[in-house]
Amino acid sequence: MIVVLKQNPNEAQLASLMDWLAEKQIDVHKSVGTSHTILGLVGDTAAIDTDLISALDIVEDVKRVQEPYKHANRKFHPDPTIIPVGNTTIGGGSLTLMAGPCSVESEEQIVAIAKQVKASGATILRGGAYKPRTSPYSFQGMGTRGLELLKVAREETGLPIVTEIMDASQLPEFADVDLIQVGARNMQNFDLLKRLGRQEKPVLLKRGLCATYEEWLMSAEYIMAGGNHNVILCERGIRTFETYTRNTLDIGAVPVLRRLTHIPIIIDPSHAAGKAWLVPQTAPAAVTAGADGLIIEVHNDPAHAVCDGPQSIRPESFDALAKHLYALHDFLASHPAPTLV
Ligand code: PEP
Ligand code: MN
Repeated sequence: MIVVLKQNPNEAQLASLMDWLAEKQIDVHKSVGTSHTILGLVGDTAAIDTDLISALDIVEDVKRVQEPYKHANRKFHPDPTIIPVGNTTIGGGSLTLMAGPCSVESEEQIVAIAKQVKASGATILRGGAYKPRTSPYSFQGMGTRGLELLKVAREETGLPIVTEIMDASQLPEFADVDLIQVGARNMQNFDLLKRLGRQEKPVLLKRGLCATYEEWLMSAEYIMAGGNHNVILCERGIRTFETYTRNTLDIGAVPVLRRLTHIPIIIDPSHAAGKAWLVPQTAPAAVTAGADGLIIEVHNDPAHAVCDGPQSIRPESFDALAKHLYALHDFLASHPAPTLV
């Protein structure tokens, strides 16, 4: 971190800043120029609040030269992280396919879809029991019963389950969930993230609707700073000026995050597209970009789905898509993309 001081800084204030930094185990390299003095801060500056320094009378500017996240940072952890989820793992070169309905609707529905997606090669079953809906009058999910039905489907198929938590108070109910999803709308629910950091279940952290990579990684950092390093990132489309699609799939998130972090990256083409026909058209791009997996909404009767029917593909389509994605992944494993600059 670099701190540029104003001209002729007050000596007492400067001494107090130096003492404060020393207390935080930060070494300071001072270079005195003709007009300005610059302080180079060396040490663990991630925990230093730049705003506190900027607010000082003697300070003209503060600049970070290092990212503010350290647990999530690839610089300190060059190898990709592999996260165990139930009987499978995510990351490290494998391709994970999570599939299932937006919402759990009944035992017949979730068990039938679970069996179908498993037969097609999915390794994790998705399904919402608690749903974050834009309208309070829309279906809000089956809640506790939905969680029970997901466990029935897990029992029947052996597929681990991923489902969304809405509030930290629900954590006891999620004790038996294999992968806890934090939805886009909760990406910056910092209390929830802190609580998830103090437990061990892996967390699928979806990108906020308008979140930058750094904001998203800082949310991952919240969970990791609490001690839980089992975090997986999920790009699910961001808000842009485009209205044709529900969101805009940011496929560039995969190579950018690959560079910035060691955390596995999943793509959700369903919530990005908002249209079922577009899902098989965009999903292969995730594999080509090097994503660790996809999460895809699959419904056996999309026209009557209680939530996100228009973007849900049928089990037969998922079957064809999964075959294509695995074949593409295998092909790319033996034909890696050249690194060009
Ligand atoms: C979902 O997965 O059904 C969901 C609500 O996702 P998101 O938080 O990305 O909108
Ligand atoms: Mn959905």
